[in-house]
Amino acid sequence: MDFQWNAEQLAFRNKVRSFVAEHLPADWETQAHGPASETQSHFAVKFCGRLAEYGLLVPHWPTRWGGADADPWTAFILAEEMWAAGEPRGGQYMNVNWIGPTLMRFGSEQQQERYIPPMARGTTLWCQGFSEPEAGSDLASLRTRAEKIGTRYRINGQKIWTSYASHAETCFLLARTGAGRDGISIFLVPMTTPGIIVREIPSLIGAGDIHEVFFDNVEVPSNALLGEEGQAWQIVRTALSLERVGIPRFALAARMLTRAVDRLRRAGRLFESASEQATRARAACEAARLYSYHIVDQRRHGHPPGPEASAARYATVLAERYVAEFVVEHLPEALAGGDPLLQAHHQRAVVAGIASGAAEIQLNLIASELLGLPREPR
Ligand SMILES: Cc1cc2nc3c(=O)[nH]c(=O)nc-3n(C[C@H](O)[C@H](O)[C@H](O)COP(=O)(O)OP(=O)(O)OC[C@H]3O[C@@H](n4cnc5c(N)ncnc54)[C@H](O)[C@@H]3O)c2cc1C
Repeated sequence: MDFQWNAEQLAFRNKVRSFVAEHLPADWETQAHGPASETQSHFAVKFCGRLAEYGLLVPHWPTRWGGADADPWTAFILAEEMWAAGEPRGGQYMNVNWIGPTLMRFGSEQQQERYIPPMARGTTLWCQGFSEPEAGSDLASLRTRAEKIGTRYRINGQKIWTSYASHAETCFLLARTGAGRDGISIFLVPMTTPGIIVREIPSLIGAGDIHEVFFDNVEVPSNALLGEEGQAWQIVRTALSLERVGIPRFALAARMLTRAVDRLRRAGRLFESASEQATRARAACEAARLYSYHIVDQRRHGHPPGPEASAARYATVLAERYVAEFVVEHLPEALAGGDPLLQAHHQRAVVAGIASGAAEIQLNLIASELLGLPREPR
């Protein structure tokens, strides 16, 4: 196997790095606490707009939708550089990674024309309305209901932990139109629709990050349905596997590890036990990186997304955890206000194993679908 980047890929990475150096203020990461805060969300619109002007927002999208038909490696190099910089695209990473591509595949022409161009310009924010108070890992038990009334659907129910909901313009919403797993449908719902109430939940990782969203007799036209009634499971499986490999959080973890090690070295405190633990954390970042590359390579060769994406995501969760544990053990003062960047990374690492699907669920998928182990009888 040859892991060398080719000249074109190296040039692309350098182009992204130069862009970041030029357009990202040095104090950006500490300007406001949390990736979904008002300050960061407004900054993301400006930043993504500039990325779009430079052809760096959606290079992997088809030219028809403002992309350059670049291969999955280009998209991944871009994502790695964005995460290493602290993900200045904010919630728009979701548009780029999976919402846009999902609409290209399953959306009607009208939905595509309405929603995809603003994503390609970097001017719009979406939220993901999946989880409910009684339906997180077990998404199939969700209860938000969409009832068909003539040419409209009336939606009632509640979502929870919805990131970006207070700034998002549109919700990618899962709601029940029938019984069981095949009775779940997807609706593209403007967040200004009457009957939607958003309440922020105070969060460790900063202001504006997670919310409760209530749907009280919210009416949408039938053309808000994505795909067909009951098709949600198929669509979401595709979307989530794009999401799972699309977040190279290990790149930020590796940068934070280097930062912590440098601090210890400068203070003359990089003792043997710290070096050993740093090496383990570094190895975990590398493992996550290489596993993610393996998935990108599969995608590059046209293989459909499969359970290995769960393994790549789990490796990334471990990388973040090992770096966080290293800081807790050897540089605890950094978490008590001594280093806002290490502190923010620690807070993100705490939730990394639960957001976008709990780590234990990834382990279940690895056991049953990748290793072929028998499922526990219910
Ligand atoms: C920062 C953050 C942002 C989020 N953003 C969004 C968002 O934008 N949109 C959205 O829809 N959701 C979002 N979520 C919700 C997230 O998807 C859920 O928290 C996650 O799916 C887990 O669901 P739950 O919280 O109900 O926990 P549960 O499903 O109740 O799980 C609780 C614990 O039990 C374990 N567990 C559950 N079932 C099993 C099993 N079968 N085998 C082994 N262990 C199991 C889990 O691993 C977990 O440790 C976000 C969460 C966080 C923390």
